[in-house]
Amino acid sequence: MTEARAASPDQAQLLERLLEHGHLVASGVPGVYGHGAEFEDVRARLDERLSSEAADRGAERLRFPPLLPRHHLESSGYLGSFPHLAGTVYSFDGDERQAREQAELAARHEPWGEFQQMTELTLMPAACYPVYPAVAARGRLPVGGVFVDAGGAWVFRHEPSHDPARRQIFHQHELVRIGEPEAVLEWREEWADRGLALLRALGLDARLDVANDPFFGRRGRMLAANQQAERLKLELLVQIAGPEPTACASFNHHRDHFGSTWGIELSDGRTAHTACLGFGHERIVLALLQRHGMDPGAWPGSVRAELWR
Ligand code: ZN
Repeated sequence: MTEARAASPDQAQLLERLLEHGHLVASGVPGVYGHGAEFEDVRARLDERLSSEAADRGAERLRFPPLLPRHHLESSGYLGSFPHLAGTVYSFDGDERQAREQAELAARHEPWGEFQQMTELTLMPAACYPVYPAVAARGRLPVGGVFVDAGGAWVFRHEPSHDPARRQIFHQHELVRIGEPEAVLEWREEWADRGLALLRALGLDARLDVANDPFFGRRGRMLAANQQAERLKLELLVQIAGPEPTACASFNHHRDHFGSTWGIELSDGRTAHTACLGFGHERIVLALLQRHGMDPGAWPGSVRAELWR
């Protein structure tokens, strides 16, 4: 079992205040929380705001469940880069005797994995993953490509932590652009600026930086160096609870990775490029509560005007 990462004093104090105010509801497992009414209201408004920004710019709305077919995860390259973060769905497939044994072990909270078999499902690691095969299945892209709003979907990362900003399951709002290389890169740069402007309009002291993902193992260090050198991933960082600033959004350029994986073709038959933006709903709500206080009703008028339109 993976030990939960400890919280800094600031993070522990923030978590305590969030629980006290009923913004988060503890589950007994680090990094898994329910949301109180006010927290969820802010999150829903943020979701709406991001989707309407996207709709104004021609995004098509698609929604997917928080489960990803195992085959999609296997094709994506995720298990090579982040095997330690993936979650896989297992299910019982045995006889009555085994069911009894399993129940007995479970009653004592002892491991009962020996009775479990792999299913065709995994937990969604990133909300953009189902978009690529769905768009590929339509055939060649229209001229200009596509822009999809996959909404704020639940995603899973197995990294138990007592830092309230590092959750095992959270909403990631993904916007995805699939098209010609230049158009995709331009779109990402434009949205990085728009994301920065949005967070600043919410009164958050955000800055854009090149990201450094926790890739797994020795090969991972190479991937991380490449990611940095080629500016493949940008992040919007906000200081929530120390010591490090927290990434509240990321802007990824995949070049032709998903285009070749899924055979997504441009109108002229070349392989499409892709980019995605992921906004972490909960992290942004946490940053707002931390910055403007635990009572959203008392936030500055300029901040409220951005969300309560
Ligand atoms: Zn993505």
